[in-house]
Amino acid sequence: MIPAAFDFKRASSADEAISLIGQYGDEAKFLAGGHSLIPLMKLRLAQPTMLIDIGRITDLSYIKDGGDHIAIGALTRHMDVEKSDLLKKHVPLLAHAAGHVGDAQVRHRGTIGGSLAHADSASDLPATTLALGATYIAQGPNGQRQIAAKDFYKGFLESALAPDEMLVEIRVPKNTGGWSFQKFNRRAQDWAIVGVAAWKNGKDSGVALVNMGSTPILATSVSAALASGASITEAAELAAAEAEPQSDLNASSDYRTHLAKVLVRRALEDSSK
Ligand SMILES: Cc1cc2nc3c(=O)[nH]c(=O)nc-3n(C[C@H](O)[C@H](O)[C@H](O)COP(=O)(O)OP(=O)(O)OC[C@H]3O[C@@H](n4cnc5c(N)ncnc54)[C@H](O)[C@@H]3O)c2cc1C
Repeated sequence: MIPAAFDFKRASSADEAISLIGQYGDEAKFLAGGHSLIPLMKLRLAQPTMLIDIGRITDLSYIKDGGDHIAIGALTRHMDVEKSDLLKKHVPLLAHAAGHVGDAQVRHRGTIGGSLAHADSASDLPATTLALGATYIAQGPNGQRQIAAKDFYKGFLESALAPDEMLVEIRVPKNTGGWSFQKFNRRAQDWAIVGVAAWKNGKDSGVALVNMGSTPILATSVSAALASGASITEAAELAAAEAEPQSDLNASSDYRTHLAKVLVRRALEDSSK
């Protein structure tokens, strides 16, 4: 289908983008890689009258060592996250998960900021950054604020970002414990029917679920059980405790619950090797 008519402005800095979105209000949307927004516009599920192109703000495309964390500019493409030596060394789970986003075309265009701001529970990077305890930096007309990943996802495609705020950076704590990313799909490049991002370091762990509800889910019951000495098999039984899995053409809610338990167990076993 063809999207409804819209106007287009290209911003060359975050400040300019935020000023433009303030000018055009609720009818405007940022355009980053366009790999989630344009399909929605073609289906007319989104009909912004103004697109503010932030895709060429090159100074928001970086991966830097921030001491105890790695800082990633919001406009960094999935492919650059996947290939980053810094991430492979300090946060290998995130680099690996980025390599599972769609196909090479999607990974060359889509951005980490676009994926998180879109807040789709079926996407791989929201759950992965949630498991890793990331902090997102949002910039608005009054400056910057930090939002913990666990406070960011509010509902189906709904985040804590205000309409005039832009995601500018993602800070991911360094994490070199054992890790695993499990993505169950029918064809290699499909979205996950259920996915699991997990890390484990002794009794500490982080486990998050893809496509097990309207938001990415932090499986806190699993981590609490491991911390209090439960076995991996026992803890994995609690995989869906925080989830509200939907039924759709791909899987029933019960099947998703079963998958989550199996994949969490596999992920934790992998993380313990
Ligand atoms: C065929 C196909 C397969 C895919 N498969 C997968 C998959 O397997 N796993 C997966 O995780 N994803 C998948 N995706 C989605 C892909 O990862 C997208 O790139 C990503 O979800 C959105 O990033 P984007 O840069 O393209 O954002 P856009 O589409 O440009 O924007 C998405 C939304 O976020 C907003 N936005 C963008 N950037 C910012 C920002 N910095 N601050 C505030 N708001 C912002 C936009 O206004 C829009 O509402 C797939 C996409 C396609 C087309």
